[in-house]
Amino acid sequence: MTATPPASVANAHVAARPTATMRGLNLAYGKKPVLKGLDWQLQPGQVIGLLGRNGAGKTTLLEAMLGLRDLHGGTVELFGESGPQLSDGTRARIGYVPQRSDLFEGFTANELLAYFRSFYPRWNTSKVDGLLSRWDIARDQPIARLSGGQQQRLSIIRALAHEPDLLVLDEPVSSLDPAGRREFLRELVDQVLDRGTTVVLSTHILSDLERVAFNVAFLRDGRIAVQAPLDELLDTTRQVTGTREQVDAFCVQRNAQVLQRRALGGDQELALLTLPSGAAAEDDGLPLQAVNLEELFMELA
Ligand code: ADP
Repeated sequence: MTATPPASVANAHVAARPTATMRGLNLAYGKKPVLKGLDWQLQPGQVIGLLGRNGAGKTTLLEAMLGLRDLHGGTVELFGESGPQLSDGTRARIGYVPQRSDLFEGFTANELLAYFRSFYPRWNTSKVDGLLSRWDIARDQPIARLSGGQQQRLSIIRALAHEPDLLVLDEPVSSLDPAGRREFLRELVDQVLDRGTTVVLSTHILSDLERVAFNVAFLRDGRIAVQAPLDELLDTTRQVTGTREQVDAFCVQRNAQVLQRRALGGDQELALLTLPSGAAAEDDGLPLQAVNLEELFMELA
């Protein structure tokens, strides 16, 4: 008789499998490299803000992850399945909101949603109805007549309706008023938190992520430069100024890692360091300065 593992063991195994694993991704447009040997992993239930300046390659990376771009090197695994072509089963587990609206503008919201519904085995009608009302989207008007922000919200409802296990949002609030953006994102993430959905949302505006994303990943120079829980990053990152020798000696003494260094005038440099948790408050030796989100973004992205 074959022994069946207890459910808790089987579930632990399933839960441990990353939602996505990317290894050594390379992608260039002509001679211009955008992804340069990029490694990245998304764990189930993580809410990750993908940060990078305009043109850093966020859209390219998200599209490459979803099999929508041909890679010049590297591998992507989604839910344990290797690309480049995703199976229908894997596709049904993904919700994707591209930066540019992919809605059929001649349709009404009702028609659009009925059309997409036919492709998915799972569809949460009451969630769709609730969000259409809450986000004030006319159901019977041609989509072309909705505002940019309403179209973006409709695109998000379409991506949430089949209750994806991975939700990918490319600059999801770019058409929204800055005042309401963070609240909207928070509400959006709350929609999926209880299901343990993995969420990736890209933005070039760090403040969009405060109280929204629990993890941040900085895309810089074709790679994920840093990924960490936002709180932890703020807690353990400090800025110091000194000569390279002073900074290096300080790192050895305090078991710190250099995240980023930048030459100032003369022989001075400004370095961002990761200190062991709990040690970051001490400031003997070189004076340590806390960094806020904006400063982190300026140095890391
Ligand atoms: P982000 O989303 O971070 O703004 P993108 O992934 O859109 O960055 O673009 C990364 C870089 O690649 C930019 O310099 C952009 O101009 C260039 N790029 C993007 N798409 C194409 C394309 N289809 N052909 C040529 N260059 C492209």
